[in-house]
Amino acid sequence: MSDPDLSGLADQAPLLRRQILDWWEAHGRRRIDQKPWMFTPDGRWPDPGEELCVLECWVAEVMLQQTQLAVVLPYWHRWMAAFPDVGTLAAASEHDVLMLWQGLGYYARARRLHAGARQLVAGAQPSAAGSGDPWPRSLEGWMALPGIGRSTAGSILSSAFDRPFAILDGNVQRVLARLMAHPVPPKRELAGFWRLSETLLDPQRPRAFNQALMDLGAGVCTPRQPACGTCPWQPHCAAYAAGDPGRFPVKDTPPPVPFQVIGVGVVSDAAGRVLIDQRLPEGLLGGLWEFPGGKQEPGEAIEATIRRELREELAIEVTVGEELITLEHAYSHKRLRFVVHLCRWLAGEPQPLASQQVRWVAPDELASYPFPAANARIIAALEARIAAG
Ligand code: SF4
Repeated sequence: MSDPDLSGLADQAPLLRRQILDWWEAHGRRRIDQKPWMFTPDGRWPDPGEELCVLECWVAEVMLQQTQLAVVLPYWHRWMAAFPDVGTLAAASEHDVLMLWQGLGYYARARRLHAGARQLVAGAQPSAAGSGDPWPRSLEGWMALPGIGRSTAGSILSSAFDRPFAILDGNVQRVLARLMAHPVPPKRELAGFWRLSETLLDPQRPRAFNQALMDLGAGVCTPRQPACGTCPWQPHCAAYAAGDPGRFPVKDTPPPVPFQVIGVGVVSDAAGRVLIDQRLPEGLLGGLWEFPGGKQEPGEAIEATIRRELREELAIEVTVGEELITLEHAYSHKRLRFVVHLCRWLAGEPQPLASQQVRWVAPDELASYPFPAANARIIAALEARIAAG
């Protein structure tokens, strides 16, 4: 394996910085409606070294870890209105935190933000002014919080404090791999790519440089069909010179994504209430509510799957009625098909044998519980069925 070759690039770094910053001044996402956390309370782009609201930058960085800017914005505004300071976030209930994250996906991010706020508030040192300043100023301080890796930490420190810390998220890896036409997947040579990002970082304007690099990756050097004709780094780009930038970054063949069928029961009682359970706190969707069910065994009819899962997980007996909806949902590591049937409760007091708690709720109360995206579609189908009588 060969690390990315830094020798030529170190000499060119001042020119590359100037080119990307000039491009960003003219074409970057620099409006307050695009990245409000990057502005001062009086609506200015900050002066060099001027501090921004750390909580706003932290929340934005975590939301942006797996999600695009346009999707994040309304969530970020709602979140900051509900939790305007770290103490309010730390004191919030997990239910309220998950409700505000509902629909954004990767819910562990919300739980980790919440846990991080509690950790910071608990460890806040009184400042010289007398009030507690909970915010770390080092990579290690940020990386001690749950769910914060080196790139997120670097991004928060450069955004909020204008400190010279490099970033290396997926977008930046792609830009740098193309710039070098590097023949090895970045994931296998992260140390070299970190050195590359650090070499390029503008020590005088780290906040602006990292923002420019992010904007270039998000808007110009995109995964498919990069807009090389508008790219400030085109004259230096080895992938462009090679004539096929889409070939970079080189990727390992991904492992096959497993596929599973999940039988789900929307169980109702004689009063018309439906049964939901809250997932255990761990895992991708931990703490969210859902309709009960589980994996179909090989050779098993889906009705039998639902009866068995409800018996094993809730200790209840049901009759499985007609299908309500079938839907597919893709996660990064697996694809699921949910086959959802209406069920009638027969016997057994529901018990949370594989969940935190079980609850009978009226269908019109479902909106006040946080559900994963697939379950939201089940609720919509249920409401349509009820409306149709
Ligand atoms: S020239 Fe094209 S491939 Fe190279 S960095 Fe710019 S947009 Fe990406």
